[in-house]
Amino acid sequence: SPTVSDGSSAGNIRVVVRVRGINAREAERGANCLVEIDPHTQTTHLYPPTEGDKSHIRKIFDKKSFTFDNSFWSGSPTDPHYATQEHIYDSLGEEFLDHNFAGYHTCIFAYGQTGSGKSYTMMGVEGNPGLIPRTCEDLFERIEVYRSPDVSYSVRVSYFEIYNEQVRDLLAPRTETPRYLKVRESPTEGPYVTDLIELPVKNYAEVKRFIELGDQSRTTASTKMNDTSSRSHAVFTLMLRQVHHDVNTDETTERVGRMRLVDLAGSERANATGATGARLREGGNINKSLTTLGRVIATLASSSTSTNISRSKKEVVPYRDSILTWLLKDSLGGNSKTAMIACISPTDYDETLSTLRYADQAK
Ligand code: ADP
Repeated sequence: SPTVSDGSSAGNIRVVVRVRGINAREAERGANCLVEIDPHTQTTHLYPPTEGDKSHIRKIFDKKSFTFDNSFWSGSPTDPHYATQEHIYDSLGEEFLDHNFAGYHTCIFAYGQTGSGKSYTMMGVEGNPGLIPRTCEDLFERIEVYRSPDVSYSVRVSYFEIYNEQVRDLLAPRTETPRYLKVRESPTEGPYVTDLIELPVKNYAEVKRFIELGDQSRTTASTKMNDTSSRSHAVFTLMLRQVHHDVNTDETTERVGRMRLVDLAGSERANATGATGARLREGGNINKSLTTLGRVIATLASSSTSTNISRSKKEVVPYRDSILTWLLKDSLGGNSKTAMIACISPTDYDETLSTLRYADQAK
């Protein structure tokens, strides 16, 4: 069986936190920063809102602290510990790409309430790209360097969203009524989306065009359907296929590493928005995917820390309880590397605490 330098599954799940800065709206209403990060211990501290009580002692007494693989502070750009987009890529993306070139699957997803910085982290903004564009760029740069008469590479991309436990292809031409795709499982290939478009890409410019196309499709749908984008999971996939040709024996071997980069639906609870009927059902479905994802990762994390991983223990991973986890099955656990980036807002106590607890159970 293949050996990975970091073969234990314990090392295969990374949990990091990224806090964004106070935005204009929060500054306007005089919101306090409730989050503090200790760069030496990678600990995130959350303080309860003080409501006028500025007692330092009380704050320290009530604070909740969580330690992660990394606690990234992206509060103020002038802060010496400010984690830039480049910093996030260097400490996570690069290593995950190494793993893909070694022929394995990876999965990075951003979790957090709407407005906490998930799409900023995954996609980024004009002039300040996030993990997805940086991964694509690095991928093609490496292919240029690694390509030789003995090794050839090809890359394909797909981009879909899961909304209300239904899959929609973001690279397919838009239709009047949304077209949902079925999920099946093949004994050899694992779970897959039927008729999903997988486009071959030769360079970064081509991928960029497809990302824009997909994002446009996502936004168009969301304006029609009242901002569904914060309530759908967007799954961007890069498939790296490498063919090694042994000139002596004339034998070829093939390896496929898949990278999944996922911008999850907002984690804010459905009942918080006074949802009823269809909206409530949708909230339930979002929660179902997010809770199942949490359970899947927690199960993987706990089985990797126990010394005796029995087969039966592996089988209780509840992949099939949601479409999201079912489709990500091959990218979670086993030899795959997984990272959860828990994005938090510095001013919202309840949502931030719930995100930190979610991330904590994945360790
Ligand atoms: P989400 O995808 O979780 O709903 P966004 O990524 O859209 O949240 O972030 C909300 C807003 O905050 C956006 O305007 C985004 O550009 C900004 N933002 C988020 N994180 C950061 C950060 N680390 N640094 C600067 N701006 C950020």
